[in-house]
Amino acid sequence: MSIRVIIAGFKGRMGQSACQMVLSDPELELVAVLDPFETATEWQGIPVFNDKAALEGFEADVWVDFTTPAVAYENTRFALENGFAPVVGTTGFTSQEIEELKELSRSKNLGGLIAPNFALGAVLLMQFATQAAKYFPNVEIIELHHDKKKDAPSGTAIKTAELMAEVRESIQQGASDEEELIAGARGANFDGMRIHSVRLPGLVAHQEVIFGNQGEGLTLRHDSYDRSSFMTGVNLGIKEVVKRHELVYGLEHLL
Ligand code: NAP
Repeated sequence: MSIRVIIAGFKGRMGQSACQMVLSDPELELVAVLDPFETATEWQGIPVFNDKAALEGFEADVWVDFTTPAVAYENTRFALENGFAPVVGTTGFTSQEIEELKELSRSKNLGGLIAPNFALGAVLLMQFATQAAKYFPNVEIIELHHDKKKDAPSGTAIKTAELMAEVRESIQQGASDEEELIAGARGANFDGMRIHSVRLPGLVAHQEVIFGNQGEGLTLRHDSYDRSSFMTGVNLGIKEVVKRHELVYGLEHLL
């Protein structure tokens, strides 16, 4: 039997890639799509919903979410409360929200995934960066995205910094008396590590993690050149969450 999927944010850039991926996989069935502003009642023969409340009691297994940071928490809560295992790519969750959603998933006995990055190379970049941070505590992150991205820094950059902070000696970087001549010049400060966000048309999603030590440097870089890079991870997420009983944060937990 195929896995029945709802896609929230189906008209967006990621939502459209996810629809194509689900439609092309015979093991998956797209049963509903959601967008608050769509006026048509059907898209490619699939019912369109404008209000998630109308999906209460709907028959589906998985809720894929590529919407906006403003509604993603509320959407994920709604999915769990209604028996849909969430696979969420929307970024912008606070760590408290993630903990609350994990707790809710356990109480509902439902699997789920919130992944700041579905690209396998980005997951590996985070793992390599975590290995290196143990030996190179001086590190800065540069994340680069298209200019329509709403949140900064990216969810991937925050997750990379969180993972490195678990193993890295906590130090303040740069000169102790450094001064920003223009506010923000040194980037965001995460436990002494600096994160810089670049937004330019033409980019998709890219990240560099730059380590420096006496007399040497190490640079790790990942590039998503197009949105198809995320779909292997979304497909894997959909097929895994239906077998699980708890929401996880990060694709690496399902690999
Ligand atoms: P996008 O093109 O702006 O798409 C978002 C879509 O969600 C829009 O069509 C928007 O409609 C719709 N929307 C807004 N509120 C909604 C609601 N309440 N219910 C349902 N749909 C709603 O953005 P995108 O580039 O696809 O990115 C979407 C999210 O995915 C962002 O948070 C981005 O950072 C994240 N992302 C994650 C990954 C990953 O691997 N995890 C990769 C890339 C992007 P309107 O335009 O009409 O408002």
